[in-house]
Amino acid sequence: MIDLRSDLLGPRPPGVAAAVRAAAARAPAMEYGEDPDERALMDELQAELGVEAVVFVPTCTMANQIAIRLHLPQGGQLASAARAHVVTVEARATALTGAAPGVLPDNNGHLSPSTVSAFLARLEPGDAALVWLENTHMLSGGSVMPRRWQPEIGAICRAAGVAVHLDGSRLWNAAVAQDAPMSRLIAGCDTAAISLNKAIGAPLGSVLCGSRSAVDEAVRWRDALGGGWRPLGGVAAAARAAVKGWRDRLATDAAMARALAEALNARLGEATVQTPETNLIFLDRPRGDAVAFVETLAHHGVRTIALGRTRIRLALHGGVREGEVAAIAAAVEAAAAGDGQAS
Ligand SMILES: *Cc1c(COP(=O)(O)O)cnc(C)c1O
Repeated sequence: MIDLRSDLLGPRPPGVAAAVRAAAARAPAMEYGEDPDERALMDELQAELGVEAVVFVPTCTMANQIAIRLHLPQGGQLASAARAHVVTVEARATALTGAAPGVLPDNNGHLSPSTVSAFLARLEPGDAALVWLENTHMLSGGSVMPRRWQPEIGAICRAAGVAVHLDGSRLWNAAVAQDAPMSRLIAGCDTAAISLNKAIGAPLGSVLCGSRSAVDEAVRWRDALGGGWRPLGGVAAAARAAVKGWRDRLATDAAMARALAEALNARLGEATVQTPETNLIFLDRPRGDAVAFVETLAHHGVRTIALGRTRIRLALHGGVREGEVAAIAAAVEAAAAGDGQAS
């Protein structure tokens, strides 16, 4: 069975198990920042991300939900793309913040600087707003934000006194796609959330980064939301080991996704799937039932997930071998033939 349900299903990177064992042999820590691995993880990421401060939280959902509370009073407008994770998958959590969803037009999941300018121009004095970016954009096939957009949007928003948050759950994949340092993809944003369990293979955890004062306030919200996990030596040590060498480990995921997209288009017809920019492939079953297709495909040895009624996601990760790409494409073709819908 080849499991493509998510890119959090890759193997634990080398060094993770040993790091956890070493942490388990130490006395546990209790307070925020007391554990040496937690402190080192924060220091190392702070340097790599080019930010003042970082806090380690259990999930990227929590990092995002903290960010809304940091930047937006109740009733303020959360300006995002229609299919942003924060207003789709996280809709129920976001509703609890009291944010008013303000959907803006997007380009393959990304808000352009001119769209953001036009939005800011429409705000009335006293209106509270938060501009929300997502890179890569999950429901847009893992698309990468155009290089210059987020620093430009940051500058426009700063001039207007409006905060910008980046949901960078898969920012690692964007950094590899654009051969850019992580810090450049965060520049201009007030806060960013980044998953450590997707793509780079930590067993769990995400970070929220930003200014010292934003992160101090974020720690209070983390605790209020039940994310004051402790003693966290083991998870911090594991995450720290996963961050080491991430870029080299990630490079093949996008190449495999491209090869798989080509193989699918060759077998099922041109433009069956979009050419992926990163590690995610979406297969549309315009007349089909995605849930039934996922089941059929599992019988052919490939596990995937349905996102919505007609879309299936295939996530490439470090647990897939390049030699398996052809077998995956063949399984999808067999499943498509089986459900009587050729493309
Ligand atoms: C997965 C994901 C999240 C949430 O991450 P969890 O750690 O599962 O809560 C947030 N944003 C995006 C874009 C994601 O893909």
